[in-house]
Order: sequence, then structure tokens, then C-alpha cells
Amino acid sequence: MKITVDQEKCIGCGACVSICPDIFKLNDAGKSEIKQENTEDEECAKNAAQTCPVNAINTE
Ligand code: SF4
Repeated sequence: MKITVDQEKCIGCGACVSICPDIFKLNDAGKSEIKQENTEDEECAKNAAQTCPVNAINTE
């Protein structure tokens, strides 16, 4: 599964980082960035995608 974060949409709320600290991190611009593009923890990534208030996280 590949995970991407839409930098335009992300508001830097940090929810995804709290849910999956191994997958997401906040970058210098205060936006969420992918630490690991291919993860085994699909469950976590999907949870984060659903929790994101602006639907900035895409999982394929
Ligand atoms: S949950 Fe969404 S808006 Fe919040 S930091 Fe993550 S990608 Fe950005």
C-alpha cells in the first residue's frame, strides 16, 4: 500500500502523527510528511486517513 499526503490540504493538526508516529511526521512547514511510503501497518494508515479532518491522506 502506498500512502501520500496532499500538502495543499494538510492543516498540520498532527492527528495522523499521533495515530501512526512510525508512518507520519510533521515537516518544517508544519505539514504531515510520509516517513515510510510502504508500510505493513495498513490498519494504522487507514485509521489516520479516516481521522484526518481535511481528507489529505490517500491510501492506495
Ligand atoms: S491528520 Fe490530516 S491535516 Fe492533520 S496533520 Fe495529518 S494529514 Fe495533516
